[in-house]
Amino acid sequence: MLDKDCLFCKILRGEIPSAQIYETPAVLAFLDIAPIRPGHALVIPKAHVASLWELPADIGGDLVTALQVVGRAVREATGATGVNVVMNNGASAGQLVLHAHFHVIPRAEGDGLEPWPGAPYADMAAMTRMAETIRTRI
Ligand code: AMP
Ligand code: ZN
Repeated sequence: MLDKDCLFCKILRGEIPSAQIYETPAVLAFLDIAPIRPGHALVIPKAHVASLWELPADIGGDLVTALQVVGRAVREATGATGVNVVMNNGASAGQLVLHAHFHVIPRAEGDGLEPWPGAPYADMAAMTRMAETIRTRI
């Protein structure tokens, strides 16, 4: 089911041009129009779902295969030595397009993209409490 106003559904319907690189019955991959680096690709489900939690249960295999196939091809085509696979879920996480998608970003040593900063827990007890709090939601 596609959405009338969704940007990526318009790409799926062919109403907006895109540089497509891979397709299965359930998944499409195409180049990001404003790449972090050339070759930056997007992998999307063909069903219109907003984010990670609405993905159809049976799409996991196709998605992972697409990420592997596209990730390897992007890496080889760009001469990258690494690849980030990133999914933004929610506005606070940087999601602009509300059709679930994975970014495939080619990386090279010294390319200037900084990893996100990390800071340790105050102590092991704080980390254990956090894990316990999360476990209660599972
Ligand atoms: P996000 O911030 O995770 O929602 O990422 C949305 C991505 O879609 C951004 O990286 C945009 O550059 C990309 N984008 C927006 N419009 C298009 C388009 N017409 N074709 C390809 N990529 C697009
Ligand atoms: Zn959509």
